[in-house]
Amino acid sequence: MRASLAWLLFALGAAIPSVAVLVVALRAASTESARAREEQFAERVAAAQATKRDVDAALARATETLRRLEPAAVSRLESRLMAEKPDFADVVVIGAEGQMLVPKPMTDEPPSPPECLTHRAELLEGDRTAARDGIIGACPHLKSEQGRYLWPLLALERVAEGSTPADAVATWIEEHAARLGPAERSVLRARVAPLPEKVRDAALGALDRPLPLHRTLAGLLTEPPGSDSVEAGLRIHRGRYLSLVRTMPEGIDAGFVVHESSMIRAPGLPAHLVLAAGARGDATDVVLTPSLVLHVEPKDGASLDAEARRSGRRILAVGVAGVLTAVALATVLFARARKAQRLAELRTDFVAAVSHELRTPLASVRMLSELLETGELPDDERPEVERTLAGEARRLSDTVERMLRFGALARGRLSVQKSRVPASCILEDARDRFHKAHPDKGIVVDAPPSLEMHVDPGLVGLVLDNLLSNAAKYAAEGHPYRVEVRRDGRHALLSVSDSGPGIAARARRRIFSPFERADDRLSRATEGTGVGLSLVRGVARAHGGDAFVKSTVGAGSTFVVRFPLEGS
Ligand code: ADP
Repeated sequence: MRASLAWLLFALGAAIPSVAVLVVALRAASTESARAREEQFAERVAAAQATKRDVDAALARATETLRRLEPAAVSRLESRLMAEKPDFADVVVIGAEGQMLVPKPMTDEPPSPPECLTHRAELLEGDRTAARDGIIGACPHLKSEQGRYLWPLLALERVAEGSTPADAVATWIEEHAARLGPAERSVLRARVAPLPEKVRDAALGALDRPLPLHRTLAGLLTEPPGSDSVEAGLRIHRGRYLSLVRTMPEGIDAGFVVHESSMIRAPGLPAHLVLAAGARGDATDVVLTPSLVLHVEPKDGASLDAEARRSGRRILAVGVAGVLTAVALATVLFARARKAQRLAELRTDFVAAVSHELRTPLASVRMLSELLETGELPDDERPEVERTLAGEARRLSDTVERMLRFGALARGRLSVQKSRVPASCILEDARDRFHKAHPDKGIVVDAPPSLEMHVDPGLVGLVLDNLLSNAAKYAAEGHPYRVEVRRDGRHALLSVSDSGPGIAARARRRIFSPFERADDRLSRATEGTGVGLSLVRGVARAHGGDAFVKSTVGAGSTFVVRFPLEGS
């Protein structure tokens, strides 16, 4: 089977189970991350239920406290309620006229002097600039008819004109932030935008501070949409907030208010959970009133989500790693099996080739010697027959010699007997041998007369014979062949060039391995066993050098053998 077809079948065979395993791993990964999410959800539900139990128990205790409340002065009522209030509630005491007594309102600012009121009137009808300058100079607490501070808005106008320093506005906002209502805050937030960055950030910081509790509760309690009921002597309101209030003698209302921000800053609620107002409609909601719902969320939801994804990914990674390892292992095994198979094929070819190489000259030797034996050969033909007989015997002995050397090399027993020899002698001897075997082919040798090599001359001769006989076989028309030796640093480079058909790039490395030939078709058409070049490289390496080929398809090849000059 052709190698590419075998690899294709292998790839298909490996791809099918790999895809199957990957699909299984993907499924396992998604099941795992779903399981991790379910687990997290179950934890949140359990935490929500525990929170709900705590809240219910605290509210029951608060109801009991209110029922038992004795009439007393406001300050005593306050301290009693503060001691018994649930963590997530605020205490309120409201006077008979509806004024909030607890939490205490901020002490009022001093009333503005009469000229401030005149300035206020002049702002609308009169000298606006003078009125504005008067207010900025002496009326920092002056409010409009609607109860909004005038100072910051007028000062901001003058900042834009360049006559009031910007940081004066920031300072005023810092000082008055606690008294500013939500509407004033949002107007100022928009107006301070053009101020220099540092001043603007200071002003925005002050405007973003939470409203004082009195203001928050006052805002909440003034417009309470929701339902009021009377249960067990207490007035209970359920809407944006939950309040439990008991009316004491003299019309004073005292009780507890639970609202969004009192819940969120409650210290007694589970520390690992964040309580966000607003219903999500699932089992992790703690419903206090229809519009006051706490949603129990993991404090670090994003990282828990990432953890769920990670555990899914871990499974997938294990699956992918498993598949990759299995495919890599199978590939290695398959490659080895292919190599062993190829080697077995090459060996069979080798045995056939060697038998053929021996049989042909052997048949000639036998035939020619029998011819001589008959004594019937005419005298004039005798020298020719004897020459052919000697040539065939030489061929036989060369083949046997090559096989023996190859056998020794394969067993690591190639013996190298080095001596100092002029390079030119080795080349000229090889040229003479080649001439004898191939009188019809041209050969040129070139060696510097002074260059000496420290090598086994027999083995180097074998190298040259192999390279030259290859040139004659595979580049029959590519002569004259050029055999050259030159010094290259601490090496001698011995090369044999032809201008034959060349060798394809993918075969250049391979042909130096035993039994390998550049082209399988060639091995059928041309005599050869595929061991010549492996012998060439073996000899080079036994000397501490190496062998390689440079070739251009269609233009020829140059085989180069490098020998160290060391010791020469
Ligand atoms: P063999 O000649 O017995 O096949 P070798 O190991 O000597 O074995 O050569 C290996 C292969 O290298 C040859 O089969 C041939 O395909 C290729 N080869 C060797 N020398 C040449 C050359 N001069 N030009 C083109 N191909 C060559």
